[in-house]
Amino acid sequence: MINYTERITLLMQDVVARTPRLSFIDLREILVFGRFGRSDAEGAFATCHCLTLPESEPGYFFWRDRTTGELTRRSQWFVTKSPEVRILQTKIKYLVSFALPRFCNQSLERSRKAELYPERTEPWVAKLDTIVHELYHIDPDETGLRRVTRADGSHSPRSHGPLYYETVAEMVQAYLASNPDPSLLAFLRDDFDTLGTRHREITCTTFRNFPSFPQRYQEAVDMPADPIVKIEPLKAPTQPVLYTEADLVVRHFTETGVRRLPAPGHHRAA
Ligand SMILES: [Zn+2]
Repeated sequence: MINYTERITLLMQDVVARTPRLSFIDLREILVFGRFGRSDAEGAFATCHCLTLPESEPGYFFWRDRTTGELTRRSQWFVTKSPEVRILQTKIKYLVSFALPRFCNQSLERSRKAELYPERTEPWVAKLDTIVHELYHIDPDETGLRRVTRADGSHSPRSHGPLYYETVAEMVQAYLASNPDPSLLAFLRDDFDTLGTRHREITCTTFRNFPSFPQRYQEAVDMPADPIVKIEPLKAPTQPVLYTEADLVVRHFTETGVRRLPAPGHHRAA
């Protein structure tokens, strides 16, 4: 069995230790988790989610009469907040998610990144590039994500200037030139199929409410009453607002889906 997200975390520790530009990152405050993403579907290989964005200013949704344009209803006032994630008492500042099997099947060939690397760079280096790319989103000034903040805490593809990709490729090459322990990188050499043959089961840390994960939510706040329009109450959050280690669940990933591992002590039928 291979726990893919644990391998990524171990590799990140070494990358951060050997990369001066990323040395401010404390990996105890970063949590890596798995999401499902088919190789043949569009979508990100990985995403950096920021949990340190400040609470938004109070606001509300409103409805207008289509003909008169008059305000007819509005929601309760609310603020948008990040949920709290505490793992063994440590407050997590960023989550980094990886989409499997898509991430594992990434290759430098057929990728726009290829032009940033010398010819004959091994195809699996695209995965290391993605890992460094996500780490580089962590902002040393703790104001959110480097170069962007979108309301939901994710980053938009437009958040990267042209130098972003070049700087990432430089960091990747400098890391590889520093002679890292090959055993830390070995898992990146295999595509999903080969990994499955080699390790039988591929697992990732996920959140208990998979496929959900900690995301920004709205919380009602008290503001002066407004007697003129009808107020729609805000729906209570449907997902936790505090996550701890008890909310982490290791799941088994396949080409086609994800399932929970049998609880310890339960034997699977042969
Ligand atoms: Zn990015």
